[in-house]
Amino acid sequence: MEKTKLEKYKKILLQKRKELVEHMEVIKDSDMQQTTKESSGDHSSYAFHMADQGTDNMEREKSFFYAQRDGRLIYHIDKALERIEEGTYGRCHSCNEYISDARLEAVPHARMCIACKSAEEQKKAANGRGG
Ligand SMILES: [Zn+2]
Repeated sequence: MEKTKLEKYKKILLQKRKELVEHMEVIKDSDMQQTTKESSGDHSSYAFHMADQGTDNMEREKSFFYAQRDGRLIYHIDKALERIEEGTYGRCHSCNEYISDARLEAVPHARMCIACKSAEEQKKAANGRGG
């Protein structure tokens, strides 16, 4: 893909990501407030729980983000940004054909072309409940 086009999609993705992260922060803040209200101690049980788990804060932040609906989108946007860096952005993950501009305009984090995507969705529907 041309560099100017890549830059354009990168900008769209970063902007979208920023909006989603800001939205997630609002959700997280209201979550935290509720937790603090419920616990009678001076520290929130959430923070204690985090320390108890012994996992890296950033990783927990990430998994928290990714667990939410917006977070899943952030995950896909991150993956798209990775593909831009790798130079594989704009290619279908499944058939390796170029994804149409129209599709990337509508879904800049698209991983598959429309044909492969709808084939996947049909497969999912046939399998009943899936991922
Ligand atoms: Zn494809």
